[in-house]
Amino acid sequence: MTKPKIVILGAGYGGIITSKSLEKLLKSGEADVTLINKHDYHYLTTQLHKTGVGTAADRQIAMSIPELINPAKTRFLKAAVSSVDIHSQGVHLEGGETVTYDYLLIALGFEVETFGIPGVKENAFKIRSFRSTKIIYHQIVKQFNLYKQDYDPSRLTFVVAGGGFTGIEMLGELADGLPKLCKEHDIPFEKIRIIGIEAAPSVIPFFPKQSIEYTQEVLEKRNIEVITATKILECTPEKVLLENNLEIPTRTLIWSCGVKGNTIVHKWGLPIEKGKIPVDSYLRVKNSKNIFSIGDCSLFMKDEKNALPPTAQVALQQAPVCAKNIVASIRGESLKTFEYHHKGSVASIGLMAAVGKVGNFRLSGMFGAFMKQVIEARYLFNLGGPSLIIKQHFGVSREQVNEMVKQ
Ligand SMILES: Cc1cc2nc3c(=O)[nH]c(=O)nc-3n(C[C@H](O)[C@H](O)[C@H](O)COP(=O)(O)OP(=O)(O)OC[C@H]3O[C@@H](n4cnc5c(N)ncnc54)[C@H](O)[C@@H]3O)c2cc1C
Repeated sequence: MTKPKIVILGAGYGGIITSKSLEKLLKSGEADVTLINKHDYHYLTTQLHKTGVGTAADRQIAMSIPELINPAKTRFLKAAVSSVDIHSQGVHLEGGETVTYDYLLIALGFEVETFGIPGVKENAFKIRSFRSTKIIYHQIVKQFNLYKQDYDPSRLTFVVAGGGFTGIEMLGELADGLPKLCKEHDIPFEKIRIIGIEAAPSVIPFFPKQSIEYTQEVLEKRNIEVITATKILECTPEKVLLENNLEIPTRTLIWSCGVKGNTIVHKWGLPIEKGKIPVDSYLRVKNSKNIFSIGDCSLFMKDEKNALPPTAQVALQQAPVCAKNIVASIRGESLKTFEYHHKGSVASIGLMAAVGKVGNFRLSGMFGAFMKQVIEARYLFNLGGPSLIIKQHFGVSREQVNEMVKQ
């Protein structure tokens, strides 16, 4: 009898944890598992603001997928998916190869939402992937070098669009990282302007008043200018145009105003609602028995009106349940209903401050920053055990760590 073929598209939070869970759940020889991702590294999306400012080493943010999986149990393919034919059950890859499946998981994540604002797609810098945030870092360095030639102050003005969690994290990281970068490139830090722009009346508007006030206070103390209740109308390579005839000369607008599901899935004949793939309570694509979808590209309704938000926390809770349900489908067993438990959210404002809520506790300050580190370390532990944490922080290979542990 031929073994069922499980194919996972995307090795972000949802895809990689599902493949790790399948490695544990499947009996030897029970199924063939293939994980497909366009890069051969998995990156910590929740830490991308650090790559943008160069405050974390690359190895702390991106890690080799072949080192994270068990090659005896999971085949990894570095390839970009171009389409899926749900009738012939084939995944077409850029380059021409087709991979057939019996069970498919679509975990292709998000795309940046620009709301059609003129110039944003072409000129703004996006916090989308490891690569896109490396581009932000290179843009900062490039502007420093050009400033030394023309002394144009717009080169030292860094604007972050969006005062939600991601925007706050980016602003805090710029305040943390730019002094060191200025020193390295011989740029007077006092000439740097860091500006945050938010359309709502305050930053993190969805948070309690005390958290908003705390965040505003920290941003102010760090000399970050915050413009609220103001919409961005246009972005050109040299300036950002705002409501009320305001304009900010800048070469660097960092966009963090929202995300949408990966639009690549729209042409595959799957149901699409609100731009995402709707799934049932078992995380199966609506009207399908063998296609699953989790994370930011899927739409899971928590009640009649509201969908779960696009967060790592949701993808990470869905992944093990999805793995169980794929295995149960293969074995002809009953499937498990997915239930989401919100554990809280914490946003860093640089290394030494954070704001958020865990359970019923409001967090801020250094304790919040510590909790943020704990959350990140917990993910690394689940992904690769203590050796991955050591590797990430000290830059030694996992083989070296395993050897050290044996001695
Ligand atoms: C800066 C930032 C900070 C955030 N902070 C938090 C936070 O603190 N807490 C939280 O819960 N959430 C946070 N989020 C949201 C969280 O990162 C996402 O919800 C999460 O990454 C979604 O996981 P996913 O598996 O659905 O997709 P992703 O993690 O985006 O993974 C998708 C994968 O698919 C791959 N892929 C895409 N297209 C193709 C293709 N055509 N072919 C092959 N591979 C492809 C990508 O390369 C990627 O590896 C943050 C997001 C950002 C941008």
